[in-house]
Amino acid sequence: MDSFLLINMKNKSVEKIFHILKEYLKEETMVSKFSEERVNDFQILVATILSARSRDEITEKISRELFKEVKTPKDLLKFSEEELMKKIYPVGFYRNKARILLRLAKMLEEDYKGRVPSREEELLKLPGVGRKTANIVLSFVFNKPAIAVDTHVHRISNRIGLVKTRKPEETERELKKILPKSLWKDVNNLLVPFGKKVCKPIKPKCGECVIREFCEYYKRSF
Ligand code: SF4
Repeated sequence: MDSFLLINMKNKSVEKIFHILKEYLKEETMVSKFSEERVNDFQILVATILSARSRDEITEKISRELFKEVKTPKDLLKFSEEELMKKIYPVGFYRNKARILLRLAKMLEEDYKGRVPSREEELLKLPGVGRKTANIVLSFVFNKPAIAVDTHVHRISNRIGLVKTRKPEETERELKKILPKSLWKDVNNLLVPFGKKVCKPIKPKCGECVIREFCEYYKRSF
């Protein structure tokens, strides 16, 4: 089939899929909640770094506690590494994250006058900031079109058959080709809770899935 036609078809299905998921999911990701509450740029960046390989409920609780004392990189730099470790425990990899956050705060303070940069190239140079974190900051802090691909987004996009990719970076690139920009922010916001609730890594709950009619995995397996 002509590739233009294929992209167009996917585009139509994808809009339907996201529409159904929006209706179905009432939950929001932690970052989305913070962004609506107008938590500041630096705090969203800190929470996103804390959330890597850690459960949202724990990260959200720890972040809220931390934000009572930390609003700027300068505030964070008042803590020693040891003190910060205690503050962010039991977030996963808290030792490593405490070290990274202090390096991040120092760099923001020295090179960016305490502000979070808004360009992808600059974000990617910051300690602890990979593509997923950079894309979350770009879309939720600066309202720029970006797709934050984590393990849920990567897995579900492949299962549904929207993409056929092996790495999250490839998924990001391919999704950008088939999704209208207006949906880019929704990708992470919808697929992360959906991946935790229904399309789980092991034993997805296909029987109760609201988008199964669009899913290649479902068509193959049932
Ligand atoms: S049908 Fe199953 S594999 Fe497909 S999206 Fe739904 S839960 Fe995931």
